[in-house]
Amino acid sequence: MNGIVAEQSEIERAGSKDARQCRLLSIVVPVFNESETLPEFHRRLSAVLDSMPYTAEVVYIDDGSEDGSAEFVRGLRDSDPRVALIQLSRNFGKEAAMTAGLDHATGDAVVVIDADLQDPPEVIPELVAPWVEGKGEVVYAQRRSRAGETWLKRASAHTFYKLMERVGRAPMPRNVGDFRLLSRAAVADLVRLREQHRFMKGLFAWIGHRQISVPYDRDPRHAGSSKWNYIKLWSFSIEGITSFTTAPLKVATYVGLLVAVLALVFGLGIIYETLVYGSDVPGYPSLMVVVLFLGGVQLTTIGILGEYVGRISDETKRRPLYLVQDHLPAESVPPSDKPSGKAARTR
Ligand code: UDP
Ligand code: MG
Repeated sequence: MNGIVAEQSEIERAGSKDARQCRLLSIVVPVFNESETLPEFHRRLSAVLDSMPYTAEVVYIDDGSEDGSAEFVRGLRDSDPRVALIQLSRNFGKEAAMTAGLDHATGDAVVVIDADLQDPPEVIPELVAPWVEGKGEVVYAQRRSRAGETWLKRASAHTFYKLMERVGRAPMPRNVGDFRLLSRAAVADLVRLREQHRFMKGLFAWIGHRQISVPYDRDPRHAGSSKWNYIKLWSFSIEGITSFTTAPLKVATYVGLLVAVLALVFGLGIIYETLVYGSDVPGYPSLMVVVLFLGGVQLTTIGILGEYVGRISDETKRRPLYLVQDHLPAESVPPSDKPSGKAARTR
């Protein structure tokens, strides 16, 4: 009896080994003005893909580049059948570009990676291994350290993660970017989330599934400059907070209540003072303080409300998240492997 079971699992193992060979791996690369790094990026990525036993496609999403990045990718397709290009009609932002990539990727697993070589392509096999072994549906690369970043960036990132941990509903791992592998099932769930304000790190966490981390060292940018500045990072964190929690609305309510109670106590104090000592000094300073303070609290509260109302208005328009100007699929992918991609495209 045991012998038969052992024999069966032997056959299964052999079978799954074959299945591994025909697995399709998609690499999704959002690209915005990266013509300086793309040649080196593709060279390193190709070397990694060549060393792996899977069919692969590399989906470059040109997010409205103005430096000829799209033309470069078009050229790559002549020499590399794995290359696919999705050209968006303008710059929609990295989150939308990644979504476009996930919608069009056809692989059994999809790896999202930056084009600037900050995420080393050499880490990809380490992300694929746990998935092949069936250990998890999401394998994310976790930065060992944030060395090389300014203290201000590190401090603000720290505060943001602390805040998100407190108020967010889905736990969000720290020092994790978008560099990760998602199984077909995880991608299918992720592309169902069509909100306009896409805070991908939050969405990645929200879908759940078994998620595991692989430590890596993030390299400096190969060339060009980061598309992020502090203003963008600030609105990015507002995005993160407002799309995953309504707690700030509660804070506004409580601060308002507290101020009202304090104002009441203060008012009673003034009445008492006037009754007992009489009023010989007009209360101009105290009045100004109260008026300005309450005005400030009211404006903040309205501002917080406005953030949410603005988001409601954006969501109700139900606009597509991105528009595709041109789509050139990879030749390495057999047509029969494309139904999942097609299903995603119709959405
Ligand atoms: N990116 C994009 N659209 C944008 C901004 C950036 O597709 O509007 C791409 C960019 O080409 C790169 C990745 O997103 O591949 C990360 O961008 P960046 O290096 O500027 O971000 P950082 O590494 O500083 O977070
Ligand atoms: Mg970068």
